[in-house]
Formats: sequence, structure tokens, C-alpha cells
Amino acid sequence: MFLSVVVPCYNEEDVVEEFYTVVSKIIEENDKFTKHEFVFIDDGSKDKTLEIIKNLREKDESVRFVSFSRNFGKEAGIYAGLKESRGELVVLIDADLQHPPEIMGEMAEKIINENYDSVGAVRENRDGEGKIRSFLSRTFYKFINSISDTQIVENSTDYRMMSRQFVNSVLDLSEYNRFTKGIFCWVGFNNAEIKYKNIERKSGNSKWSFNKLFKYSIEGIVSFSTFPLVLSSFLGILCFVVSFVMLILYFMKFIIFGEVVKGFPTLICSMFFLGGIQLLCIGILGQYLSRSYLEVKNRPIYIPKETSEELNKYK
Ligand code: UDP
Ligand code: MG
Repeated sequence: MFLSVVVPCYNEEDVVEEFYTVVSKIIEENDKFTKHEFVFIDDGSKDKTLEIIKNLREKDESVRFVSFSRNFGKEAGIYAGLKESRGELVVLIDADLQHPPEIMGEMAEKIINENYDSVGAVRENRDGEGKIRSFLSRTFYKFINSISDTQIVENSTDYRMMSRQFVNSVLDLSEYNRFTKGIFCWVGFNNAEIKYKNIERKSGNSKWSFNKLFKYSIEGIVSFSTFPLVLSSFLGILCFVVSFVMLILYFMKFIIFGEVVKGFPTLICSMFFLGGIQLLCIGILGQYLSRSYLEVKNRPIYIPKETSEELNKYK
């Protein structure tokens, strides 16, 4: 089988060569892979990543690459890599050797012999990660799975081997705001999972700051569920019912006991409460609207500056 190895890279000069050596060896030793190619996506790296990839290309024709005009993010890198890939099997893997390449054989086995269309790697543990982070991540999966029709496997990673048919289906979803983890589940097919033990990064730093992760989870929720919109309608109805009941109560009090309701604090509190809910709902609406806005603009997901086939096309 012809295997494409898709690798998004952003400032990975420390590991990219080692990655290539380790993975090539594993692929060459496995007789299931009769032919292979590497598709490196240089996501606007500011270090020597692209240079190293070009050197690899000079030595080895099976190395192909696309270099972006700037940093477009990993999701764009994944899209570009899948689009460029030509193999019957495609494996998506990180450059930092955190995804064990040893299980590629097992993944291919499942697709070839057991009729699966894709095999995802799932982290068994979250060692080397803070407690708060793990907790938030667990909460995120619980939340998104309870409000979305698409069920996302907890602790799933982007490390995945796919059949050509599966890849083509993923590429059919050409949306601008890409939440790949959700897309992999959304397309359906027969999916298997392989568990592996989390390995700490070989070198360099994780590009995921807390901020980025937060944005990423909002992206996931907005991309795969319209529940927040339902929630805002629900809050509206709730406020209406409560205030209506209060109105009747106060009115009765006035009619029966002749009591004029005092209460400056009540007024202020309810005003702020309502104001808060209104802003929250506008915010939720805004999240969806801004995404629709970006989709409608129909901008390309990435801009290539250079590819292995067309070097310096625009120079
Ligand atoms: N990556 C990328 N573009 C980015 C950020 C990351 O292509 O803007 C790549 C990165 O080079 C690596 C993979 O995505 O191969 C995963 O990144 P990282 O190791 O920082 O994430 P983590 O393993 O912590 O989830
Ligand atoms: Mg990593």
C-alpha cells in the first residue's frame, strides 16, 4: 500500500530531521507499505524548519512539502497536507515525536484486514500535563458531547491513519473554521481506536497556550453544536416567565394588602441580572455570526508560498 505521512510543522527545527529518520526506518521495515511519501507542511515557521525540510527533499524524492506564506494554524496545515497527499493510506502525525510511529503498522493492519476506514490514536494518560488542564479538558469533552450530535472521543488526538475514501470525505468539508477533531467524527465510517501512553515532547515547546486552548474549545463548540443558541432562547423565556409571575404577585399584594413594593436593591439587581443575560446572549449570537461572516467571505484556508514541486513559484 502507498502510504502518505502528513506532518504539520511549526518551528520544529530541533526535531524534524530526527522525526524523518525514525519514521522512515519504521515504514521501510514494514512490508505493508510498498511505497511512501512524506508531506511536510511548513506552517510559516520562523526558524530553520523549512531549510531542513528542503535538505531532506534534496536527498530523498519521497519528501514533499508545502510552505505557507505565514502561520495559518495547525488546522490549516492538516487540510493542506491531506489535500496534497496521494497515498491510498494517509497518516496524520505531529512532528514532535509525541505520537509513537511504532503503532503505524498496527493502524494499517486494522484498515487493510479489519475493514476499518480510519484508526485514531487515543492517549491513555495525560502525564506531563497539569491537573487543572486535564480537568478542564475532561470537562470540555463531557460538555461538547452532551450538547452535540457528533460524539468526540475523549483524549483523541490528531494522530490518525485514514483510507483514501475517508480523506476525500474530510476534504469535502471545506469550511474555513476547521475543528478537525470534530470533522473526523462527523464524516462517519468505521473508526477504530488504538490506545497509547502519552510521551513528553522530545524538544521545543508546545504551541498550545491556555488562551489558544480556550479559543480552540469555543471553536469546537460553535462548529459542532447550536445548543448555545437554544440556551439563549431558553434564558429569554425563563426571564419572561419569572418576571410575569413577579408582576402578578406584586399586583396581588397591592390589591389585597394595599402594599406598595419598596426595593431599590431589587430593582438594581434585576436590572443587572437582565443586562447580563442580554449581553451573554448577544455574545453567543456574535460567536455564530462572526463564524458565518468568515465563511461567507470565502477566504482560502491557507496560502502556499512554495511547494516541493514548484519552488519559489512567485519569484
Ligand atoms: N503546529 C502547526 N501550526 C501551529 C501550531 C502547531 O503546524 O500553529 C504543529 C506542530 O509543529 C506540531 C503539531 O502541530 O507538529 C502539534 O503541536 P504541539 O506539539 O505544539 O501541540 P501539542 O502536542 O502540545 O498538542
Ligand atoms: Mg506536541
